[in-house]
Amino acid sequence: MSVPTPRPASVTTVDALVVGAGLAGLYMLHRLRGQGLDTVVVEAGDGVGGTWYWNRYPGARCDVESLEYSYSFSAELEQEWDWTEKYPTQPEILRYVEHVADRFGLRDGVRLSTTVTAARYDDARGRWHVTTDAGDAYDAEQLIMATGCLSVAKTPEVPGTDTFAGRTFHTGHWPHEPVDFTGRRVAVIGTGSSGIQTIPLIAEQAAELTVFQRTPNFSMPASNRPLDPAEQAARKQDYPAHREAARTSGFGVPVEAATQSALEVSDDERDARYEAAWGVNLVGLLSSYTDTIVDRAANDTAAEFVRRKIRATVQDPEVAEALSPRDHPFGTKRPCLDTNYYATYNRDHVHLVDLRATPLAEITPRGVRTSEREYEVDDLVFATGFDAMTGALLRIDVVGRDGATLRDRWADGPTTNLGLQVAGFPNLWMITGPGSPSVLSNMMVSIEQHVDFVADCLAFAHGRGETVVESTPEAETEWTEHVRVAGEATLYPQANSWYMGSNVPGKPRRFMAYIGGVGAYRQHCDDLAARGYPGFVFSSPRVPEPA
Ligand code: NAP
Repeated sequence: MSVPTPRPASVTTVDALVVGAGLAGLYMLHRLRGQGLDTVVVEAGDGVGGTWYWNRYPGARCDVESLEYSYSFSAELEQEWDWTEKYPTQPEILRYVEHVADRFGLRDGVRLSTTVTAARYDDARGRWHVTTDAGDAYDAEQLIMATGCLSVAKTPEVPGTDTFAGRTFHTGHWPHEPVDFTGRRVAVIGTGSSGIQTIPLIAEQAAELTVFQRTPNFSMPASNRPLDPAEQAARKQDYPAHREAARTSGFGVPVEAATQSALEVSDDERDARYEAAWGVNLVGLLSSYTDTIVDRAANDTAAEFVRRKIRATVQDPEVAEALSPRDHPFGTKRPCLDTNYYATYNRDHVHLVDLRATPLAEITPRGVRTSEREYEVDDLVFATGFDAMTGALLRIDVVGRDGATLRDRWADGPTTNLGLQVAGFPNLWMITGPGSPSVLSNMMVSIEQHVDFVADCLAFAHGRGETVVESTPEAETEWTEHVRVAGEATLYPQANSWYMGSNVPGKPRRFMAYIGGVGAYRQHCDDLAARGYPGFVFSSPRVPEPA
Protein backbone atom coordinates (compact mmCIF):
# COMPACT_ATOMS: atom_id res chain seq x y z
CA MET A 1 0.00 0.00 0.00
CA SER A 2 1.48 3.35 -0.94
CA VAL A 3 1.59 6.10 1.64
CA PRO A 4 0.26 9.38 0.25
CA THR A 5 2.72 12.28 0.29
CA PRO A 6 1.54 14.75 2.94
CA ARG A 7 0.28 17.94 1.36
CA PRO A 8 1.43 21.18 2.92
CA ALA A 9 -1.35 23.01 4.75
CA SER A 10 -0.70 26.12 2.72
CA VAL A 11 1.63 27.38 0.02
CA THR A 12 2.66 31.02 0.21
CA THR A 13 3.87 32.59 -3.00
CA VAL A 14 6.66 35.11 -2.61
CA ASP A 15 9.27 36.75 -4.77
CA ALA A 16 12.03 35.84 -2.34
CA LEU A 17 12.32 33.50 0.63
CA VAL A 18 15.18 34.16 3.02
CA VAL A 19 16.21 31.44 5.47
CA GLY A 20 17.45 32.80 8.78
CA ALA A 21 16.67 36.02 10.64
CA GLY A 22 20.15 36.84 11.84
CA LEU A 23 22.17 39.86 10.80
CA ALA A 24 22.32 38.63 7.19
CA GLY A 25 18.68 37.64 6.81
CA LEU A 26 17.30 40.85 8.24
CA TYR A 27 19.42 43.06 6.02
CA MET A 28 18.49 40.90 3.01
CA LEU A 29 14.83 41.42 3.85
CA HIS A 30 15.36 45.16 4.13
CA ARG A 31 17.16 45.36 0.78
CA LEU A 32 14.73 43.20 -1.18
CA ARG A 33 11.71 44.97 0.22
CA GLY A 34 13.36 48.20 -0.82
CA GLN A 35 13.40 46.83 -4.37
CA GLY A 36 9.69 46.05 -4.19
CA LEU A 37 10.13 42.29 -3.85
CA ASP A 38 7.61 40.45 -1.75
CA THR A 39 9.97 38.79 0.72
CA VAL A 40 9.53 36.49 3.70
CA VAL A 41 12.17 35.33 6.18
CA VAL A 42 11.72 32.00 7.94
CA GLU A 43 13.58 31.52 11.18
CA ALA A 44 13.99 28.42 13.36
CA GLY A 45 14.27 30.41 16.60
CA ASP A 46 11.40 32.13 18.28
CA GLY A 47 13.16 35.47 17.97
CA VAL A 48 15.42 37.31 15.55
CA GLY A 49 19.19 37.55 16.02
CA GLY A 50 20.70 34.33 14.64
CA THR A 51 24.01 33.60 16.36
CA TRP A 52 23.20 36.21 18.98
CA TYR A 53 19.86 34.62 19.68
CA TRP A 54 21.30 31.15 20.30
CA ASN A 55 24.71 31.72 21.91
CA ARG A 56 23.66 33.04 25.33
CA TYR A 57 26.32 31.36 27.45
CA PRO A 58 27.94 33.36 30.26
CA GLY A 59 30.66 35.55 28.76
CA ALA A 60 29.32 35.43 25.19
CA ARG A 61 30.68 38.49 23.52
CA CYS A 62 31.80 39.47 20.04
CA ASP A 63 35.53 39.52 19.41
CA VAL A 64 35.19 42.33 16.89
CA GLU A 65 34.73 45.78 18.42
CA SER A 66 31.18 47.07 18.67
CA LEU A 67 31.99 50.15 16.60
CA GLU A 68 33.11 47.79 13.82
CA TYR A 69 30.58 45.00 14.30
CA SER A 70 27.50 46.96 13.31
CA TYR A 71 25.59 47.73 10.14
CA SER A 72 26.85 50.55 7.96
CA PHE A 73 23.93 50.69 5.53
CA SER A 74 22.10 53.40 7.45
CA ALA A 75 23.88 56.55 8.58
CA GLU A 76 20.93 57.31 10.89
CA LEU A 77 21.22 53.91 12.55
CA GLU A 78 24.95 54.40 12.97
CA GLN A 79 24.42 57.73 14.65
CA GLU A 80 21.50 56.87 16.89
CA TRP A 81 22.72 53.60 18.37
CA ASP A 82 25.13 53.87 21.32
CA TRP A 83 27.34 50.95 22.29
CA THR A 84 28.43 50.64 25.90
CA GLU A 85 31.59 48.53 25.73
CA LYS A 86 34.55 48.06 23.44
CA TYR A 87 33.42 44.47 22.78
CA PRO A 88 29.65 44.05 22.85
CA THR A 89 28.04 41.33 24.95
CA GLN A 90 25.53 38.93 23.45
CA PRO A 91 22.57 40.68 25.16
CA GLU A 92 23.68 44.05 23.83
CA ILE A 93 24.03 42.75 20.26
CA LEU A 94 20.65 41.06 20.52
CA ARG A 95 19.11 44.35 21.66
CA TYR A 96 20.75 46.01 18.65
CA VAL A 97 19.36 43.41 16.22
CA GLU A 98 15.90 43.80 17.74
CA HIS A 99 16.20 47.55 17.44
CA VAL A 100 17.10 47.16 13.77
CA ALA A 101 14.11 44.86 13.22
CA ASP A 102 11.81 47.46 14.77
CA ARG A 103 13.51 50.52 13.31
CA PHE A 104 13.16 49.22 9.74
CA GLY A 105 9.77 47.57 10.22
CA LEU A 106 11.09 44.08 9.51
CA ARG A 107 9.28 41.96 12.06
CA ASP A 108 6.15 41.43 10.00
CA GLY A 109 8.29 39.80 7.31
CA VAL A 110 9.70 37.14 9.65
CA ARG A 111 8.00 33.80 10.35
CA LEU A 112 9.49 32.53 13.62
CA SER A 113 9.74 28.98 14.99
CA THR A 114 9.87 27.60 11.46
CA THR A 115 12.66 25.40 10.16
CA VAL A 116 13.13 24.84 6.46
CA THR A 117 13.45 21.13 5.78
CA ALA A 118 13.55 20.84 1.99
CA ALA A 119 13.80 22.95 -1.14
CA ARG A 120 13.21 21.68 -4.65
CA TYR A 121 13.84 23.70 -7.82
CA ASP A 122 11.16 23.64 -10.49
CA ASP A 123 13.15 24.15 -13.67
CA ALA A 124 10.21 24.84 -15.94
CA ARG A 125 8.85 27.58 -13.71
CA GLY A 126 12.21 28.86 -12.48
CA ARG A 127 10.99 28.76 -8.89
CA TRP A 128 11.75 27.01 -5.60
CA HIS A 129 9.26 24.91 -3.68
CA VAL A 130 10.30 25.12 -0.04
CA THR A 131 8.81 23.10 2.80
CA THR A 132 9.10 23.64 6.53
CA ASP A 133 8.68 21.63 9.70
CA ALA A 134 5.61 23.73 10.45
CA GLY A 135 3.87 21.88 7.62
CA ASP A 136 3.61 24.90 5.36
CA ALA A 137 5.35 25.62 2.09
CA TYR A 138 6.60 28.51 0.00
CA ASP A 139 6.71 29.02 -3.71
CA ALA A 140 9.61 31.43 -4.21
CA GLU A 141 11.39 32.85 -7.21
CA GLN A 142 14.57 33.43 -5.21
CA LEU A 143 15.81 31.37 -2.26
CA ILE A 144 18.44 33.01 -0.11
CA MET A 145 20.24 31.05 2.57
CA ALA A 146 21.21 33.34 5.41
CA THR A 147 21.65 30.29 7.59
CA GLY A 148 24.91 31.28 9.26
CA CYS A 149 28.38 29.76 9.22
CA LEU A 150 28.28 28.52 12.81
CA SER A 151 24.70 27.54 13.51
CA VAL A 152 24.61 23.75 13.73
CA ALA A 153 25.93 22.82 17.16
CA LYS A 154 27.87 19.59 17.57
CA THR A 155 28.53 17.39 20.58
CA PRO A 156 31.51 15.05 21.02
CA GLU A 157 31.44 11.80 19.12
CA VAL A 158 31.71 9.66 22.23
CA PRO A 159 29.24 7.20 23.65
CA GLY A 160 26.80 8.26 26.30
CA THR A 161 26.25 11.95 25.59
CA ASP A 162 22.55 11.51 26.30
CA THR A 163 23.00 9.40 29.43
CA PHE A 164 24.26 12.11 31.75
CA ALA A 165 21.90 12.45 34.71
CA GLY A 166 22.74 16.07 35.60
CA ARG A 167 22.15 19.28 33.67
CA THR A 168 23.60 19.44 30.15
CA PHE A 169 24.24 22.61 28.17
CA HIS A 170 25.71 23.51 24.81
CA THR A 171 27.18 26.99 24.43
CA GLY A 172 25.53 27.28 21.01
CA HIS A 173 22.06 26.47 22.40
CA TRP A 174 22.05 28.13 25.78
CA PRO A 175 18.82 28.46 27.79
CA HIS A 176 17.10 31.83 27.76
CA GLU A 177 16.93 32.07 31.52
CA PRO A 178 20.14 32.58 33.55
CA VAL A 179 21.89 29.37 34.63
CA ASP A 180 23.25 29.35 38.17
CA PHE A 181 26.37 27.23 38.74
CA THR A 182 26.80 28.29 42.36
CA GLY A 183 28.17 25.48 44.49
CA ARG A 184 28.14 22.97 41.67
CA ARG A 185 30.73 20.68 40.14
CA VAL A 186 30.90 21.62 36.49
CA ALA A 187 32.66 20.06 33.50
CA VAL A 188 33.38 22.11 30.39
CA ILE A 189 34.40 20.19 27.28
CA GLY A 190 36.04 22.33 24.61
CA THR A 191 38.46 25.22 24.60
CA GLY A 192 37.62 27.18 21.45
CA SER A 193 36.35 30.77 21.52
CA SER A 194 33.14 29.79 23.33
CA GLY A 195 34.87 27.70 26.00
CA ILE A 196 37.56 30.31 26.53
CA GLN A 197 34.94 33.01 27.04
CA THR A 198 32.73 31.04 29.37
CA ILE A 199 35.28 29.19 31.53
CA PRO A 200 36.34 32.23 33.61
CA LEU A 201 32.71 33.13 34.33
CA ILE A 202 31.61 29.63 35.22
CA ALA A 203 34.66 29.44 37.48
CA GLU A 204 33.34 32.49 39.35
CA GLN A 205 30.34 30.48 40.51
CA ALA A 206 31.22 26.80 40.44
CA ALA A 207 32.50 24.90 43.46
CA GLU A 208 34.71 22.81 41.16
CA LEU A 209 35.34 23.38 37.49
CA THR A 210 37.05 20.74 35.37
CA VAL A 211 38.00 21.74 31.83
CA PHE A 212 38.48 18.96 29.30
CA GLN A 213 40.84 20.18 26.62
CA ARG A 214 41.68 18.32 23.43
CA THR A 215 43.56 21.13 21.69
CA PRO A 216 44.86 24.28 23.35
CA ASN A 217 44.11 27.49 21.48
CA PHE A 218 45.95 30.76 21.16
CA SER A 219 44.13 33.40 23.15
CA MET A 220 44.87 37.07 23.66
CA PRO A 221 43.49 39.48 26.24
CA ALA A 222 40.38 41.29 25.04
CA SER A 223 41.20 44.33 27.20
CA ASN A 224 37.52 45.04 27.21
CA ARG A 225 36.39 48.32 28.76
CA PRO A 226 33.45 50.69 28.81
CA LEU A 227 33.41 52.83 25.68
CA ASP A 228 34.48 56.38 26.25
CA PRO A 229 31.67 58.66 24.98
CA ALA A 230 34.20 60.98 23.33
CA GLU A 231 35.77 58.04 21.49
CA GLN A 232 32.35 56.90 20.31
CA ALA A 233 31.40 60.40 19.16
CA ALA A 234 34.67 60.74 17.25
CA ARG A 235 34.11 57.42 15.49
CA LYS A 236 30.57 58.40 14.60
CA GLN A 237 31.91 61.55 12.97
CA ASP A 238 34.49 59.58 11.09
CA TYR A 239 32.24 56.64 10.20
CA PRO A 240 32.14 57.04 6.39
CA ALA A 241 35.92 56.99 6.08
CA HIS A 242 36.31 54.26 8.68
CA ARG A 243 33.76 52.00 7.05
CA GLU A 244 35.42 52.48 3.71
CA ALA A 245 38.75 51.46 5.23
CA ALA A 246 37.09 48.34 6.68
CA ARG A 247 35.55 47.44 3.32
CA THR A 248 38.89 47.62 1.52
CA SER A 249 40.91 45.87 4.25
CA GLY A 250 41.91 42.22 4.53
CA PHE A 251 39.87 41.08 7.54
CA GLY A 252 37.17 43.77 7.46
CA VAL A 253 38.83 45.66 10.28
CA PRO A 254 41.19 48.48 9.34
CA VAL A 255 44.76 47.79 10.45
CA GLU A 256 48.01 49.31 9.35
CA ALA A 257 49.39 47.15 6.55
CA ALA A 258 52.56 45.25 7.45
CA THR A 259 55.59 45.99 5.35
CA GLN A 260 58.26 43.70 6.75
CA SER A 261 58.90 40.02 7.27
CA ALA A 262 58.95 38.86 10.88
CA LEU A 263 62.33 37.31 10.09
CA GLU A 264 64.06 40.45 8.89
CA VAL A 265 63.88 42.35 12.19
CA SER A 266 65.75 41.82 15.44
CA ASP A 267 64.19 39.80 18.27
CA ASP A 268 63.86 42.95 20.36
CA GLU A 269 62.17 44.92 17.62
CA ARG A 270 59.76 42.07 16.89
CA ASP A 271 58.91 41.61 20.56
CA ALA A 272 58.25 45.33 20.91
CA ARG A 273 55.89 45.18 17.96
CA TYR A 274 54.06 42.13 19.29
CA GLU A 275 53.83 43.76 22.70
CA ALA A 276 52.25 46.84 21.11
CA ALA A 277 49.70 44.64 19.32
CA TRP A 278 48.98 42.50 22.40
CA GLY A 279 45.50 43.10 23.75
CA VAL A 280 44.61 45.66 21.10
CA ASN A 281 42.31 43.59 18.88
CA LEU A 282 41.87 40.19 17.25
CA VAL A 283 43.86 40.82 14.09
CA GLY A 284 46.76 43.07 15.18
CA LEU A 285 49.19 40.33 16.16
CA LEU A 286 48.39 38.32 13.05
CA SER A 287 48.85 41.37 10.85
CA SER A 288 52.13 42.57 12.37
CA TYR A 289 54.29 41.10 9.64
CA THR A 290 53.74 40.23 6.01
CA ASP A 291 54.57 36.54 6.41
CA THR A 292 52.94 35.50 9.70
CA ILE A 293 50.27 33.47 7.98
CA VAL A 294 52.36 32.10 5.12
CA ASP A 295 55.74 31.20 6.62
CA ARG A 296 56.08 28.74 9.48
CA ALA A 297 59.29 30.25 10.85
CA ALA A 298 57.75 33.73 10.86
CA ASN A 299 54.61 32.35 12.44
CA ASP A 300 56.61 30.58 15.13
CA THR A 301 57.82 33.94 16.43
CA ALA A 302 54.22 35.04 17.08
CA ALA A 303 53.25 31.62 18.44
CA GLU A 304 56.17 31.62 20.85
CA PHE A 305 55.29 35.16 21.94
CA VAL A 306 51.83 33.96 22.96
CA ARG A 307 53.22 30.87 24.68
CA ARG A 308 55.54 33.11 26.70
CA LYS A 309 52.52 35.11 27.80
CA ILE A 310 50.81 31.89 28.89
CA ARG A 311 53.85 30.81 30.89
CA ALA A 312 54.03 34.25 32.51
CA THR A 313 50.39 33.99 33.62
CA VAL A 314 49.84 30.38 34.62
CA GLN A 315 51.67 29.53 37.84
CA ASP A 316 51.88 25.74 37.42
CA PRO A 317 54.42 25.09 34.64
CA GLU A 318 52.78 21.79 33.71
CA VAL A 319 49.40 23.42 33.32
CA ALA A 320 50.99 26.28 31.36
CA GLU A 321 52.59 23.79 28.99
CA ALA A 322 49.32 21.89 28.54
CA LEU A 323 47.62 25.20 27.68
CA SER A 324 50.31 26.11 25.13
CA PRO A 325 49.36 25.32 21.53
CA ARG A 326 52.07 23.51 19.61
CA ASP A 327 50.07 21.49 17.09
CA HIS A 328 49.02 24.33 14.78
CA PRO A 329 50.46 27.65 13.62
CA PHE A 330 49.20 30.81 15.30
CA GLY A 331 46.03 32.09 13.60
CA THR A 332 45.29 28.95 11.60
CA LYS A 333 42.55 28.16 14.07
CA ARG A 334 40.59 31.25 14.87
CA PRO A 335 42.47 32.98 17.68
CA CYS A 336 40.45 33.85 20.76
CA LEU A 337 40.05 36.98 22.83
CA ASP A 338 39.54 36.39 26.53
CA THR A 339 39.09 38.01 29.88
CA ASN A 340 41.16 36.23 32.56
CA TYR A 341 41.19 32.90 30.74
CA TYR A 342 44.71 31.74 31.55
CA ALA A 343 44.65 33.26 35.06
CA THR A 344 41.56 31.20 35.82
CA TYR A 345 43.77 28.09 35.93
CA ASN A 346 45.58 29.59 38.95
CA ARG A 347 42.42 29.11 41.00
CA ASP A 348 42.45 26.08 43.28
CA HIS A 349 39.03 24.84 42.25
CA VAL A 350 39.78 24.92 38.49
CA HIS A 351 41.36 21.84 36.95
CA LEU A 352 42.60 21.11 33.44
CA VAL A 353 42.35 17.65 31.95
CA ASP A 354 44.53 17.17 28.88
CA LEU A 355 42.58 14.90 26.57
CA ARG A 356 45.67 14.34 24.43
CA ALA A 357 47.22 12.54 27.37
CA THR A 358 44.03 10.86 28.57
CA PRO A 359 41.43 10.80 25.78
CA LEU A 360 37.73 11.24 26.33
CA ALA A 361 36.17 7.78 26.50
CA GLU A 362 32.50 8.35 27.29
CA ILE A 363 29.92 10.44 29.02
CA THR A 364 28.43 8.51 31.91
CA PRO A 365 25.33 9.15 34.00
CA ARG A 366 27.64 10.64 36.65
CA GLY A 367 30.02 12.64 34.51
CA VAL A 368 32.93 12.29 32.15
CA ARG A 369 35.17 9.28 31.76
CA THR A 370 38.60 9.56 30.20
CA SER A 371 41.00 6.72 29.47
CA GLU A 372 42.29 7.25 33.00
CA ARG A 373 39.29 7.80 35.29
CA GLU A 374 35.76 9.06 35.76
CA TYR A 375 35.10 12.68 36.81
CA GLU A 376 31.83 13.07 38.69
CA VAL A 377 30.07 16.36 38.02
CA ASP A 378 26.67 17.99 38.47
CA ASP A 379 26.65 19.96 35.22
CA LEU A 380 28.10 19.29 31.81
CA VAL A 381 28.81 22.13 29.39
CA PHE A 382 29.61 21.28 25.80
CA ALA A 383 31.63 24.07 24.22
CA THR A 384 32.31 21.73 21.34
CA GLY A 385 31.58 23.97 18.40
CA PHE A 386 29.66 23.59 15.19
CA ASP A 387 29.35 21.76 11.91
CA ALA A 388 30.64 24.95 10.36
CA MET A 389 30.02 26.61 7.02
CA THR A 390 28.22 23.75 5.29
CA GLY A 391 26.27 22.20 8.19
CA ALA A 392 23.20 24.43 8.05
CA LEU A 393 22.99 24.27 4.25
CA LEU A 394 23.31 20.50 4.02
CA ARG A 395 20.76 19.91 6.74
CA ILE A 396 18.18 21.09 4.26
CA ASP A 397 17.34 18.65 1.49
CA VAL A 398 18.20 20.97 -1.41
CA VAL A 399 17.39 19.59 -4.87
CA GLY A 400 18.38 21.65 -7.89
CA ARG A 401 17.97 21.18 -11.61
CA ASP A 402 17.53 17.60 -12.89
CA GLY A 403 17.14 16.23 -9.38
CA ALA A 404 20.74 17.01 -8.39
CA THR A 405 21.14 17.34 -4.65
CA LEU A 406 23.43 19.79 -2.90
CA ARG A 407 24.53 16.98 -0.60
CA ASP A 408 25.81 14.97 -3.59
CA ARG A 409 27.35 18.01 -5.26
CA TRP A 410 29.31 18.77 -2.09
CA ALA A 411 30.16 15.19 -1.18
CA ASP A 412 33.86 15.99 -1.68
CA GLY A 413 33.58 19.45 -0.13
CA PRO A 414 31.81 22.66 -1.08
CA THR A 415 32.30 24.21 -4.50
CA THR A 416 30.81 27.63 -5.23
CA ASN A 417 30.97 30.65 -7.42
CA LEU A 418 32.10 33.45 -5.08
CA GLY A 419 30.60 31.63 -2.10
CA LEU A 420 27.27 32.88 -3.41
CA GLN A 421 25.93 30.31 -5.86
CA VAL A 422 26.30 26.73 -7.05
CA ALA A 423 25.88 25.82 -10.73
CA GLY A 424 22.76 23.75 -11.33
CA PHE A 425 20.96 25.48 -8.46
CA PRO A 426 19.51 28.58 -10.15
CA ASN A 427 18.13 31.36 -7.96
CA LEU A 428 19.70 29.79 -4.88
CA TRP A 429 21.98 32.20 -3.01
CA MET A 430 24.13 31.89 0.05
CA ILE A 431 25.14 34.76 2.27
CA THR A 432 28.70 34.21 3.54
CA GLY A 433 28.75 30.76 1.98
CA PRO A 434 31.82 28.54 1.66
CA GLY A 435 34.32 30.15 -0.70
CA SER A 436 33.60 33.67 0.53
CA PRO A 437 35.76 35.61 3.02
CA SER A 438 32.98 35.17 5.65
CA VAL A 439 34.49 33.69 8.80
CA LEU A 440 37.93 35.12 8.03
CA SER A 441 36.48 38.59 8.24
CA ASN A 442 34.39 40.92 10.31
CA MET A 443 31.10 39.21 9.45
CA MET A 444 29.21 42.49 9.28
CA VAL A 445 31.38 43.71 6.44
CA SER A 446 30.99 40.46 4.52
CA ILE A 447 27.27 40.19 5.18
CA GLU A 448 26.55 43.68 3.89
CA GLN A 449 28.69 43.14 0.81
CA HIS A 450 27.04 39.82 -0.05
CA VAL A 451 23.52 41.08 0.53
CA ASP A 452 24.20 44.14 -1.60
CA PHE A 453 25.68 42.00 -4.36
CA VAL A 454 22.68 39.66 -4.43
CA ALA A 455 20.16 42.51 -4.29
CA ASP A 456 21.97 44.42 -7.05
CA CYS A 457 22.27 41.31 -9.21
CA LEU A 458 18.55 40.63 -8.87
CA ALA A 459 17.76 44.25 -9.73
CA PHE A 460 19.94 43.83 -12.82
CA ALA A 461 18.13 40.63 -13.83
CA HIS A 462 14.68 42.04 -13.22
CA GLY A 463 15.63 45.21 -15.10
CA ARG A 464 16.23 42.97 -18.11
CA GLY A 465 12.91 41.25 -17.56
CA GLU A 466 14.57 38.02 -16.45
CA THR A 467 13.98 36.08 -13.28
CA VAL A 468 16.46 33.20 -13.39
CA VAL A 469 20.07 33.75 -12.35
CA GLU A 470 22.53 30.90 -12.37
CA SER A 471 26.28 30.57 -12.10
CA THR A 472 28.05 28.78 -14.89
CA PRO A 473 29.93 25.58 -14.02
CA GLU A 474 33.09 27.21 -15.43
CA ALA A 475 32.82 30.21 -13.09
CA GLU A 476 32.25 27.89 -10.16
CA THR A 477 35.25 25.72 -11.03
CA GLU A 478 37.46 28.75 -11.55
CA TRP A 479 36.46 30.39 -8.27
CA THR A 480 36.74 27.17 -6.26
CA GLU A 481 40.23 26.64 -7.65
CA HIS A 482 41.14 30.22 -6.79
CA VAL A 483 39.92 29.69 -3.21
CA ARG A 484 41.96 26.48 -2.98
CA VAL A 485 45.15 28.01 -4.32
CA ALA A 486 44.80 31.05 -2.05
CA GLY A 487 44.27 28.78 0.98
CA GLU A 488 47.15 26.49 0.13
CA ALA A 489 49.52 29.44 -0.14
CA THR A 490 49.00 29.92 3.60
CA LEU A 491 49.52 27.89 6.75
CA TYR A 492 45.77 27.47 7.35
CA PRO A 493 45.58 23.92 5.94
CA GLN A 494 48.11 22.81 8.57
CA ALA A 495 45.51 23.07 11.34
CA ASN A 496 42.79 20.60 12.16
CA SER A 497 40.24 23.37 12.35
CA TRP A 498 36.59 23.86 11.61
CA TYR A 499 37.78 26.05 8.71
CA MET A 500 39.05 22.76 7.26
CA GLY A 501 36.03 20.70 8.28
CA SER A 502 38.35 18.64 10.50
CA ASN A 503 36.17 18.92 13.59
CA VAL A 504 33.40 16.80 12.08
CA PRO A 505 34.27 13.13 11.51
CA GLY A 506 33.85 12.14 7.88
CA LYS A 507 33.60 15.72 6.62
CA PRO A 508 35.82 16.35 3.58
CA ARG A 509 38.99 18.13 4.60
CA ARG A 510 39.13 21.33 2.60
CA PHE A 511 39.86 24.95 3.50
CA MET A 512 36.40 26.40 3.09
CA ALA A 513 36.87 30.16 3.38
CA TYR A 514 38.44 32.63 0.99
CA ILE A 515 41.64 34.13 2.38
CA GLY A 516 42.12 36.75 -0.35
CA GLY A 517 40.63 39.44 1.90
CA VAL A 518 37.37 41.34 1.89
CA GLY A 519 38.87 44.25 -0.06
CA ALA A 520 40.09 42.11 -2.95
CA TYR A 521 36.90 40.06 -2.93
CA ARG A 522 34.72 43.18 -3.03
CA GLN A 523 36.78 44.63 -5.86
CA HIS A 524 36.35 41.41 -7.83
CA CYS A 525 32.58 41.39 -7.24
CA ASP A 526 32.30 45.06 -8.17
CA ASP A 527 34.23 44.42 -11.39
CA LEU A 528 31.89 41.57 -12.28
CA ALA A 529 28.84 43.73 -11.65
CA ALA A 530 30.26 46.54 -13.76
CA ARG A 531 30.82 44.06 -16.62
CA GLY A 532 27.27 42.67 -16.50
CA TYR A 533 28.02 39.71 -14.20
CA PRO A 534 30.16 37.39 -16.33
CA GLY A 535 29.97 33.89 -14.87
CA PHE A 536 26.25 34.31 -14.20
CA VAL A 537 23.60 33.45 -16.79
CA PHE A 538 20.32 35.37 -16.82
CA SER A 539 17.25 33.81 -18.39
CA SER A 540 13.50 33.43 -18.20
CA PRO A 541 11.61 30.34 -17.11
CA ARG A 542 10.47 27.97 -19.83
CA VAL A 543 6.94 28.10 -18.51
CA PRO A 544 6.07 31.67 -17.64
CA GLU A 545 3.74 32.29 -14.71
CA PRO A 546 0.20 33.14 -15.71
CA ALA A 547 -0.28 36.93 -15.73
P1 NAP B 1 35.36 25.53 18.31
O1 NAP B 1 36.28 26.65 18.08
O2 NAP B 1 35.14 24.56 17.23
O3 NAP B 1 35.84 24.81 19.63
C1 NAP B 1 35.31 23.57 19.99
C2 NAP B 1 36.15 22.97 21.08
O4 NAP B 1 35.59 21.73 21.44
C3 NAP B 1 37.57 22.70 20.63
O5 NAP B 1 38.43 22.91 21.70
C4 NAP B 1 37.51 21.22 20.26
O6 NAP B 1 38.74 20.57 20.29
C5 NAP B 1 36.58 20.72 21.32
N1 NAP B 1 35.97 19.47 20.91
C6 NAP B 1 35.15 19.26 19.87
N2 NAP B 1 34.83 17.96 19.79
C7 NAP B 1 35.47 17.34 20.80
C8 NAP B 1 35.56 16.01 21.24
N3 NAP B 1 34.91 15.02 20.60
N4 NAP B 1 36.32 15.74 22.32
C9 NAP B 1 36.97 16.72 22.94
N5 NAP B 1 36.95 18.00 22.58
C10 NAP B 1 36.20 18.31 21.52
O7 NAP B 1 33.89 26.06 18.73
P2 NAP B 1 33.51 27.41 19.48
O8 NAP B 1 34.39 27.65 20.63
O9 NAP B 1 32.05 27.38 19.71
O10 NAP B 1 33.84 28.52 18.42
C11 NAP B 1 33.50 28.37 17.06
C12 NAP B 1 33.68 29.69 16.36
O11 NAP B 1 32.60 30.55 16.70
C13 NAP B 1 34.90 30.47 16.76
O12 NAP B 1 36.06 30.02 16.14
C14 NAP B 1 34.51 31.85 16.34
O13 NAP B 1 34.64 32.04 14.96
C15 NAP B 1 33.04 31.87 16.69
N6 NAP B 1 32.90 32.43 18.05
C16 NAP B 1 33.20 33.73 18.20
C17 NAP B 1 33.11 34.28 19.43
C18 NAP B 1 33.43 35.70 19.59
O14 NAP B 1 33.14 36.51 18.77
N7 NAP B 1 34.08 36.05 20.65
C19 NAP B 1 32.73 33.54 20.52
C20 NAP B 1 32.43 32.21 20.34
C21 NAP B 1 32.53 31.66 19.09
P3 NAP B 1 39.62 20.44 18.95
O15 NAP B 1 40.18 21.82 18.73
O16 NAP B 1 40.62 19.42 19.26
O17 NAP B 1 38.69 20.04 17.84
